Amino acid sequence: MGKGNISAYKGIWIFGEQRGGVVQEVVYELLGEAGRLAQKRPNEISVVLIGGEGLQKAAQELIAYGAEKVYLVEDSRLAEFNSDPYADIMTELIDQYKPEIVLTGATTIGRTLIPRVAIRVYSGLTADCTSLDIDTEKGLLLQTRPAFGGNIMATIICPDFRPQMATVRHKVMKPAVKDASRKGQIIKITPKAIRLRTEILKVVHEMQNQVNLGDADIIVSGGRGIGAAENFKLIHDLASALGGAAVGASRATVDAGWIPHYHQVGQTGKTVCPKLYVACGISGQIQHLAGMQGSEVIVAINKDPDAPVFDIATYGVVGDLFEVIPQMIKELKNK
Ligand code: FAD
Repeated sequence: MGKGNISAYKGIWIFGEQRGGVVQEVVYELLGEAGRLAQKRPNEISVVLIGGEGLQKAAQELIAYGAEKVYLVEDSRLAEFNSDPYADIMTELIDQYKPEIVLTGATTIGRTLIPRVAIRVYSGLTADCTSLDIDTEKGLLLQTRPAFGGNIMATIICPDFRPQMATVRHKVMKPAVKDASRKGQIIKITPKAIRLRTEILKVVHEMQNQVNLGDADIIVSGGRGIGAAENFKLIHDLASALGGAAVGASRATVDAGWIPHYHQVGQTGKTVCPKLYVACGISGQIQHLAGMQGSEVIVAINKDPDAPVFDIATYGVVGDLFEVIPQMIKELKNK
């Protein structure tokens, strides 16, 4: 497995992460990226969709977004993600069909599933990629990710083993564009066995879903410059004055216990790309920027004119946030 006749491995596979039957946005981003790789070096694009009954429509939708084949595994016992049977099925399919590349979102599910699969198929895995490219001659996947605390970007290759496997960060790549006229094949798979060592009794949705930083159009984030947990109220007030924006945070504030981790933006938090990102009292260290520099417009409020956040800000306000933010709220309310 893995090493050996690597030329026998063909095609780009994407793990079709779904939750409650809804295919996750990162899958469409991976389809967009796979399309770009296949334009450089022609390759067939497939999605493996595993879940409960009734995924046929979702499979069809994946074809409209560029999948040429969808390997569909439907079973009511697989409705919720479960690492054992999902890893068994992925391994079985990889052994049988031998894809050259396997991509998954760097989501909790992707990060739980794919290392198990990589070990079983005896191949390499690059976690948390922020960009991908392909060597057109040898078909090597060039997997780029931050390394050494985000200070350098490392490009990793897997020359001797197949498939080449990577988890890719959400919101970094452009999603595929839908074309309902696309044709593809849905291949129904019945797994050999469904091994269930754990039983899912109940699914509790986290508060995280309410914060929903990943999908927010506007995010107002607070950093250490706000000085104390209770001052997050000011950040919340600005967020509501902006029409219900989401509230983000730097790691310094999370580590200080001022706000829960699910608000954290950055390398070890969420990657976001809203239309507007307002950074209040955030210095702009590389690990924070890694999670928000894709934002369309960045407004930074900081009393230090040399704060690195100003290097990437579209608009910068040098001033004390306790004076600037109340003025902004007042102006917004007047409008
Ligand atoms: P500081 O760097 O202390 O900056 C506070 C800023 O507030 C200063 O620029 C100051 O001038 C300004 N300020 C102070 N008072 C005021 C005022 N009254 N008005 C206006 N401005 C004021 N960080 C993240 O954010 N997200 C991550 O995911 C993340 N992951 C990391 C992963 C690793 C492996 C490592 C090593 C670090 C990571 N960090 C992350 C931490 C990161 O390096 C920084 O320490 C952190 O981002 C700093 O947070 P901050 O900007 O809020 O605080």
